[in-house]
Amino acid sequence: MKDCIFCKIINREIPTKIIFEDERILAFEDINPKAPVHILIIPKEHFASLNELPEEKRDILGYILLKARKIAQEKGIGKKGYRIVLNTAEDSGQEVFHLHFHLLGGRRMTWPPG
Ligand code: 5GP
Ligand code: ZN
Repeated sequence: MKDCIFCKIINREIPTKIIFEDERILAFEDINPKAPVHILIIPKEHFASLNELPEEKRDILGYILLKARKIAQEKGIGKKGYRIVLNTAEDSGQEVFHLHFHLLGGRRMTWPPG
């Protein structure tokens, strides 16, 4: 999808600190981290948000979540704890319209979120 920042990151058109990549997903550091660990995990296939993900593509969600768990373990926050966030559409504050999960950790999170 041209004009999508995250598709540009997938295509290496924007320099980014890549954490993990395979044929289905990409994980990279958030440019404006909200916690000591702040990694974004995205499907390589472009979906604007969870709302646009077709039912038959549901497997990618579990795939990303378990990869987030693995990255959390590798970053040393698996036991202490971490938060996974999936902002969807306007009221959530979603700013980039390419489906992405935030993996946040390395500090005590507050609840409720803002
Ligand atoms: P959203 O609010 O859409 O859930 O989160 C979008 C996230 O993408 C934000 O945390 C923001 O800092 C991050 N972001 C936006 N543009 C870029 C970029 O060009 N590179 C990287 N690495 N992260 C970005
Ligand atoms: Zn995209």
